[in-house]
Amino acid sequence: MRVLDFHTHPWRPADLAAATRAFIEDISPAVREHGERLSDPVYAAELLRAEGIERAVVLPEHCPATSGVVRTEAVLAHCAAAPDVLLPFASVDPVSDPDPPALLRDYIAAGARGLKLYPSYQFFYPNEPRVYPLYEACAEAGLPVLLHIGSSVIPGTRLKYCDPIHLDDVAVDFPTLPIVMAHGGRGYWHAECAFLAHHHANVWIDVAGLVPEQLPRLFPPFEPVAEKMLFGSDWPAMPRGPGANAETIAGLGLPAATLAGLLHDNAAAILDATARAGGAEIATSAGNASGPPELPRTTDR
Ligand SMILES: [Zn+2]
Repeated sequence: MRVLDFHTHPWRPADLAAATRAFIEDISPAVREHGERLSDPVYAAELLRAEGIERAVVLPEHCPATSGVVRTEAVLAHCAAAPDVLLPFASVDPVSDPDPPALLRDYIAAGARGLKLYPSYQFFYPNEPRVYPLYEACAEAGLPVLLHIGSSVIPGTRLKYCDPIHLDDVAVDFPTLPIVMAHGGRGYWHAECAFLAHHHANVWIDVAGLVPEQLPRLFPPFEPVAEKMLFGSDWPAMPRGPGANAETIAGLGLPAATLAGLLHDNAAAILDATARAGGAEIATSAGNASGPPELPRTTDR
């Protein structure tokens, strides 16, 4: 069973807001067991490999208004110490960074493999014009954008910015850009995220921060929605290990090809498209152009 974790974080407690740090220390057995050794990228990569994770996306979070300031520079350096396992993403703040597109282009040149945006932590709507240059930079480089879409326990976050309908504009205007909705609309918008992932070939759901046993109940009918899902864990901010979550998903009764796509192949196709010319291949080959039979096809235009 091959597993690619599309959603992990580095453990950098000094860069986190106090409430974020306290939440993770409370929820995470990995932080309690391994402490500051988790901040060592080689050690963290070995732990992930021991969990059965082949490769893991590592997410910075530049969210000075809420959760913390884990900068992309730190994550690029972290991942460079274990490049076979750890894949760095970039984080820019569309609200407070002076020139977010220029900063993102620098990060891409330095090796970032995608962009993480936090609408409810950074306070912007994903379809605002000021965010479009960031999508342009990712689309040009063939890189995905991952957005936090759903509830959060971090104080001060504002859920309204996560309404998935704003991603419809982005999916239409950037048809080759892989758009991944982290947490699949947690708490409020599961059906909306499932619809968008079905409706747009370039829109995906990452299951980080969701209880894996509950996925079939949260996303009915599960099988066609699972075809547009990527495995993510939010490690180390999780009550179990990523390996246990992957095992649970493996036991949900999905067809073998759908399961392999969810746990590894969908994410690998999106990430490894970087080496090809842009992301267009993903939008057409891994999407749902023929439509999953279990979901009613929309007939309105
Ligand atoms: Zn996360």
